[in-house]
Amino acid sequence: MSDATNRVPAVADLGFDPAALRERYRHERDRRIRPDGLDQYRRAAGEFGYYAKDPYTERTEREPLTDRVEVLVVGGGFGGLLTGARLREAGFESIRMMDEAGDVGGTWYWNRYPGIHCDIESYVYMPLLEETGYVPTMRYAPGEEIRQHAVRIAEHYGLYRDAVFHTRVTELTWDDDTAEWLVRTDRGDAMRARYVIVSSGTLSQPKLPGIPGIEDFRGHTFHTSRWDYDYTDGTPDGGLTGLADKRVAVVGTGATGLQAIPHVARDAAHLYVMQRTPSSVDVRDNRPTDPEWAASLKPGWQKERMENFLAIVSGEDVEEDLTQDGWTATSQLQRQMISGALDTTLDPAERERLDELADFVKMNEIRARVDEIVDDPATAEALKPWYRYMCKRPGFSDLYLQAFNRPNVTLVDTADHGGITRMTETGVVVGDSEYEVDCVIFATGFEVGVSGLVSGTLPVQGRAGHTLLETWHRGPRTLHGFTTHGFPNLFNLGSMQNANAVNFVHILSEQANHIAAILAAARKESARYVEPTREAQEEWYDTLVAVGRDNSKFLAECTPGYNNGEGTRKASPGTYNPGPVAFHELLAEWRERRMADVLVIDSTTS
Ligand code: NAP
Repeated sequence: MSDATNRVPAVADLGFDPAALRERYRHERDRRIRPDGLDQYRRAAGEFGYYAKDPYTERTEREPLTDRVEVLVVGGGFGGLLTGARLREAGFESIRMMDEAGDVGGTWYWNRYPGIHCDIESYVYMPLLEETGYVPTMRYAPGEEIRQHAVRIAEHYGLYRDAVFHTRVTELTWDDDTAEWLVRTDRGDAMRARYVIVSSGTLSQPKLPGIPGIEDFRGHTFHTSRWDYDYTDGTPDGGLTGLADKRVAVVGTGATGLQAIPHVARDAAHLYVMQRTPSSVDVRDNRPTDPEWAASLKPGWQKERMENFLAIVSGEDVEEDLTQDGWTATSQLQRQMISGALDTTLDPAERERLDELADFVKMNEIRARVDEIVDDPATAEALKPWYRYMCKRPGFSDLYLQAFNRPNVTLVDTADHGGITRMTETGVVVGDSEYEVDCVIFATGFEVGVSGLVSGTLPVQGRAGHTLLETWHRGPRTLHGFTTHGFPNLFNLGSMQNANAVNFVHILSEQANHIAAILAAARKESARYVEPTREAQEEWYDTLVAVGRDNSKFLAECTPGYNNGEGTRKASPGTYNPGPVAFHELLAEWRERRMADVLVIDSTTS
């Protein structure tokens, strides 16, 4: 036994039995596994297209475009906006933003449900604060403030100029003669763009459970990402007076449910919360921004804070925790609580054992919080999550658990039935019990995709007519997730073969910087186009494999959810395993030393 192993607390000192907890987690996972896995969901399209319609902006007709821009940015969320902003700073004038939504904002355009707030501290989440001279009003800003910040960025960088909304790319075709992309859209456009940058988001298409009888329901129904304020009245701040005489069912208790449910609980005549798997619900502690603190901030503060947060939640060793919230506290705890967890010399199995113990302690704390807050013991028991902390996105709220103490709120545990059993004309059925309701609100999340490029919903024909999907028949091959040989001047933003983190906007920010630097270099060197060699992308693929860590065991032991393909154990496409901090260093070094590799000056070399 090593010294470090000796430092592992004895079971008697822990106050709980790890083996019993492990068994309980397995049991809870098994009773949730459904044989239909990912097929249990329906896309909010076709006959269910009603659920995905834009309730916020009227679609206006326009003539098809046949013009030419230097850069087309597909997606007006923070990824697209950051890229547009960095390109403007690099001197690019001809930039067209395009989005299926009626304005910029991405997820913050679509999601306007009551209670919507940032679940990451806004000082590290909301990008370009120093550049736009804005300080968020709250530590965790409300959604509408974040949406307005997206608009602020677009205005600040002149990104509305040439922008088109309510427009979806339907085809991208490379024209080798002119070295540009022909871009077709659902508006009949046939425009041209020298560069195309796709930032179409990873969780954007609303999904519905494939509940038998869903179409028979005669009451009102909508998805949280298209909140129907005409029906509920009120605003994202609450005041849903239209629900005062309504019996409402909310289906889903993920990050969205946690934020919306307290408002519906307060305003509806009766609320049934249809829960399948409870979320972990830790302390939120939101508060207004301290004006003195805001005034004391020195130039460069946001970058420093973002990097500090990223380092802590990625398990790096840092001297100071600038954010000090639930996210960083848990990461610190997992590193420090059990002596030895910091010891990088430990063998992987030993480290995993220590990680697991730290995880058990954290989740015990989360479960104890439920008992402290929820009055009814049976309801409290049903609200306790039995899985490892990162199996699902951790939740934070100081209002959610409290809502279950209200006499007009009923928790319906659907776990033993795999969710809602069916819907009738008048209500929702779970097992043999029917709950009559006037309204069903689906807080059931989004399809997990890795941009239209990977899913094939955005068909791309590269050089010599090869499609991207054909080229990727053995799986995606890219350089750093951004570019692929045979598809010049086409860039992808997202986690695939790149990096991931709980603050995904930080990842997008680094991606935007990287792409802008490459395009600026291409312009400076008068490159005909930007394209990685086959060798460079094979080298990157080999690197990903070499440093990869098989997390399929961890995922297999988790309760089903979007992280593990609903229990099918399929992990999301690989990211650079040493983590985002190391990856960003790698990219910076690559820009110093190897940028020229992707600049094709003379097309005969391709
Ligand atoms: P989600 O995490 O996918 O949650 C969907 C919920 O619906 C889960 O509780 C799921 O239960 C439940 N569900 C699905 N099918 C069901 C059925 N047939 N019967 C009963 N329940 C069913 O979706 P989300 O809450 O919208 O969050 C998605 C992601 O968006 C988050 O992870 C986060 O990344 C992001 N988000 C961020 C914020 C923020 O920053 N403010 C807010 C909201 C969301 P199971 O767990 O059993 O599958």
